[in-house]
Amino acid sequence: MSTQDCIFCKIIKGEIPCAEIYSDDNVLAFLDIGPVSKGHTLIIPKQHFPNIFDIPAELAPAIMHAQKIVGKAILATTGATGLNIFMNNHSDAGQLVFHAHWHLIPRFSNDGLKHWPQA
Ligand code: ADP
Repeated sequence: MSTQDCIFCKIIKGEIPCAEIYSDDNVLAFLDIGPVSKGHTLIIPKQHFPNIFDIPAELAPAIMHAQKIVGKAILATTGATGLNIFMNNHSDAGQLVFHAHWHLIPRFSNDGLKHWPQA
């Protein structure tokens, strides 16, 4: 898929709206349109990489930095008492959007979700 057809690239370019909650030079975070729980957020690199194996290692600190900033904000604003951070790589792992992204899923006591959520 070309970056022109990528839905997350369109979000980065402002061609499709999103509920943005964090942005810096390297990453964007926005609410997932189909939340697994209240505050379910996606973090994506601003450059198009299909999955984690295509992301240059130099970007890893920026991504982890965003995960910590956004993760703490989600915990503070939702009142969640736990947070899953994970990603799907390749379709057999459940990846549907082929622009690398991390799911941040707020967790609550007895929320009924599995500890490793399934798509
Ligand atoms: P899965 O749906 O199996 O979790 P992915 O890991 O590829 O597959 O996740 C894609 C995520 O992108 C889904 O959680 C979906 O709800 C979300 N999504 C798709 N389109 C949008 C959009 N326009 N805005 C926000 N989130 C979106």
